[in-house]
Amino acid sequence: MTNPTGAIRQRDGMTFAVVTRMPAGIVTPADLEKVAKVARTYRVPMLKVTSGQRIALVGLQPGDVQKVMDELGPLAKPETAPCVKFVQACIGTEMCRYGNQDAIGMARAVDERFKDKTFPAKIKIGVSGCPRCCGESHTRDIGIMGTNKGWTVLFGGNAGTRPRFADIIARDLSAADALDCAVRVSEYYRAHAKAHERTARFMERVGMETLKSELLTLLPYIQIEKVN
Ligand code: SF4
Repeated sequence: MTNPTGAIRQRDGMTFAVVTRMPAGIVTPADLEKVAKVARTYRVPMLKVTSGQRIALVGLQPGDVQKVMDELGPLAKPETAPCVKFVQACIGTEMCRYGNQDAIGMARAVDERFKDKTFPAKIKIGVSGCPRCCGESHTRDIGIMGTNKGWTVLFGGNAGTRPRFADIIARDLSAADALDCAVRVSEYYRAHAKAHERTARFMERVGMETLKSELLTLLPYIQIEKVN
């Protein structure tokens, strides 16, 4: 059986999951009502809130996948090519008393810049409003973490079977420079990574010294002596 486009085959080999697109994990009542309506219409056996702050509609029959996507509209996140799977975020200065920076605003800006890009392997992004790092920035492919001096950009983290802490690419950046830095590092990865090579393995192979000399020295807002 071929996969319906954009769906994820489930363990039983016969049913599929469709995952929503919810940047920063923010949803409106209307979004939730739409997901609930679709789930009732197609008798979806399970709705799962994922670790990436999305909702998976699990157990779809193959013939229902496209109809579910069509009804979800912009809320659907087809899994077609390696791309940004999600941009998760903590609540940041929007609500958290510890927040140093606006994590939700940053996550939305990041999602906007990355949503149409494809990569050699999947990318997960975590944005945190302070170094307590509730957005899991150290173990995501791209991490952006707020401090009382600005934003820290991290790259190459992974929480999988071979966990890896991300490398610190730059510290104390403005929001605009942090976003620019994340985009440029991801473009470097896209240009130099092997097919299916996750960022963690890429950084192990290429190394910070190469990244520094080939990319970071070209970014005027990065003080290279501060980069680990
Ligand atoms: S990372 Fe910091 S700002 Fe974000 S929720 Fe956790 S404590 Fe609050």
